Amino acid sequence: MKFNTKTIHGGQHDTDPAFESVMPPIYQTSTYKQSTPGGHKGFEYSRSGNPTRAALERSLASIENGKFGLGFGSGLAAIDAVLKLFKSGDEIISTNDLYGGSYRLFTKIFQDFGIKFRFVSMENAGEVEQYINENTKMIWVETPTNPMMNIIDIEAMSRVAKKYNLLLAVDNTFATAYLQRPLELGADIVMHSATKYLGGHSDVVLGSLVVNDQKLAERLYFIQKASGAVPGPQDCFLVLRGIKTLHLRMQRHCENGEAVARFLKDHPKVDKVYWPGFEDHPNHEVVKKQMSGFGGMVSLTTAEGTLESAVSFVEKLKVFTLAESLGGVESLAGHPATMTHASIPKEEREKTGIVDSLIRLSVGIEDEEDLLNDLKQALE
Ligand code: PLP
Repeated sequence: MKFNTKTIHGGQHDTDPAFESVMPPIYQTSTYKQSTPGGHKGFEYSRSGNPTRAALERSLASIENGKFGLGFGSGLAAIDAVLKLFKSGDEIISTNDLYGGSYRLFTKIFQDFGIKFRFVSMENAGEVEQYINENTKMIWVETPTNPMMNIIDIEAMSRVAKKYNLLLAVDNTFATAYLQRPLELGADIVMHSATKYLGGHSDVVLGSLVVNDQKLAERLYFIQKASGAVPGPQDCFLVLRGIKTLHLRMQRHCENGEAVARFLKDHPKVDKVYWPGFEDHPNHEVVKKQMSGFGGMVSLTTAEGTLESAVSFVEKLKVFTLAESLGGVESLAGHPATMTHASIPKEEREKTGIVDSLIRLSVGIEDEEDLLNDLKQALE
């Protein structure tokens, strides 16, 4: 099956043996009747498994071209499950520019349990080797990074991971499986905040993991069941429905993202624009190699370079909504320094470019003209 067919049909067989409904039913149940102790039809309790969740998990695995999918109550719950693969004394090397909530989970929760994190620039995969020692267990990559749109070469990073027998995990939230499939490039774990493009309509919070290795999958299923951060069936249904139009939505996100990025680049009230599609993006060659498009995320700094100018810009937007999150059909604007990345200390934040005048746009699928006019009036 090709990708666009997989979004609709991938793993969606026999989802309703009773009535053959085309969409899987929302199995809103916590438990399942057993004919004799242990005599059940594959599901016994909805923390360990639910048919609607199972349908979503098969769809997630299918679009990432992986074998095993797992759903979680949020993207962070999915990352939390990955971190529970490790123990005190283990070390993880992570991208230094990443979603603030991932950074907070790493440094404010798991660091206290004795796991050590090193945040490093990964634009040159070879440079990562100097941070590897006998305690290192995993490389955590976010690409494109949130919000600076840095690009990390997944294939090159997977060669480093394999050389030292480390796991390579990739947060694929910004690109989605439509634009980039990390497992095909050598990653062991692909993670999503499905809250974003997979759900696609800003109406659900959900996370996912997909892996190929059976032992790793079994351990993650065990953590999923033992820790219990599972999504409800209604939320699984919404993401499953979202995935069915992922390819169409992503096409428009990419078109509008490009129009917005190029418009902003030429605007006198804008200083820098961060978008992986620019020919002069520092890692444009890697972008072209590992992504089939450039996505709908664009960041910019104002020419004035002040907090006030950024705040005034986002307050004047009318079609773009000032809100956390991204990846929905509607365009959103965010101010990372005070919103999504506020949990990263200012000195750390600014080292990676998250200055007070930075604004992050999630370009939706509205009419391009309305989006550009909105940006124009707010800048002027
Ligand atoms: N990873 C990235 C790149 C994100 O942008 C987010 C949320 O914004 C997350 C992970 C966390 O996902 P969730 O909000 O679904 O917990």
